[in-house]
This record gives sequence, structure tokens and C-alpha cells, in this order.
Amino acid sequence: MRVVLVALLLCSCRGKPAAPILSYHSVGDDGDEFTVSETAFARQLDWLVAQGIHTSPLRELKGVALTFDDGKEDALTRVVPALQKRGMTGTFFVITGMVGKPGFLSWDGVRALDKAGMEIGSHTVTHPRLADLPDDKVREELVDSKRELEKQLRHPVDLLAYPYNSVRPRVRDAARDAGYRMAVSGAAHGGSDPLDLLRITITRATTMEQFEQILHK
Ligand SMILES: [Zn+2]
Repeated sequence: MRVVLVALLLCSCRGKPAAPILSYHSVGDDGDEFTVSETAFARQLDWLVAQGIHTSPLRELKGVALTFDDGKEDALTRVVPALQKRGMTGTFFVITGMVGKPGFLSWDGVRALDKAGMEIGSHTVTHPRLADLPDDKVREELVDSKRELEKQLRHPVDLLAYPYNSVRPRVRDAARDAGYRMAVSGAAHGGSDPLDLLRITITRATTMEQFEQILHK
């Protein structure tokens, strides 16, 4: 009985976000397991439309939130056109230290996403596992990336994705102290805490059947 109660308490503590948050990286026909093919991505979006499931900005969490990590250049060439065609929105987490490097967005590209009405958040400066870093380095990664994004976009940026979904309570608190309002992680840690929100990862291996199950939960 006691064990059951403890388990229930733990579950209710973590909970789930008010709406599902999906975690993508790249979209394209070649690439690693985190690169979803253009055909599969289009089928997933079309299925959402057919089901009457709306996307919403992460900050509103009123519909399914589509998030894209790392700031790869296909965000502009493939992801946004597919979203805009269907009147959808997405949230893009940028590694500020990688902007302008081969395969990644330039600052003009990041600004273009922002202008297109997409949400932009931080994915730190160098993409480390924050849980493995000392407090001062964690703070640096969180504060410096936020500051750079705000300088480039000329508006506040208060969304964060923890690299590798790596987060611990002290990292979560550092995100709050750095001024983030919402932060997303993965299935291992995340829950309904606005600074440690559960996301479900979609990969190249995710079948349409699995995708439907995720959204119907
Ligand atoms: Zn990442």
C-alpha cells in the first residue's frame, strides 16, 4: 500500500504538460536517426490537420507544440515551408555557438524564422550535457545564449531546450534564475513543471501508427 502511494505521489508530481510537445531535429531525406524524412513529416502534419489537432506556440500549450532542436538550416528550407503550407507553427531551439557553421542556420536565417512567426528559444551556446557541468559553466551556457539571441532578435527570449534533454534540479533552478520562463526536456526527466516539460521524441524510426498513438494518449 505504502509503495503504491509513493508511486502515485511521484507520478502526480511529474505529470504531463497541458498539451503534447513533440521533439524533432532535422527534416530531410538523408541524415541520422534524428532526421525525419520529408515524406514522413508531411504525413504526420497532414494527419494532425485531418484530426483537427491544432499546433500552438509552446508558450501557450493550447494545442500540440512542434519543437525543433539545434537550429539546422533545413528549418528554413524544409520545416517552415511545410508548416506554413498548413497554417502551423513551430518552436526552434538554436545553439548560438553553431550559428553560421556548415549545416546550421545563419543569424539572418534565425531572424527569418522569427519574422515568419515561429518561436525561437535557446539550446545553449555549445550544446553540453548541463547536468555534467559545474554551476558557473551552467549559468554561462544559459545566460550567454539568451543574451546573444536577444541581441540578434531584439526582443526577449525566454524558452529553453536542455541539450540531450539533460536536466537536474540545480540545472532547472539555474534556468529559472537566468530568466527562462519555459524549458523542455525529454521523457526521462520531464513532466508538467514549466521549467522541465516532458517532450516526446520523433525520429526517423517513428512509424505512423506510433505517431497516432502518441497524440491519442
Ligand atoms: Zn540538441
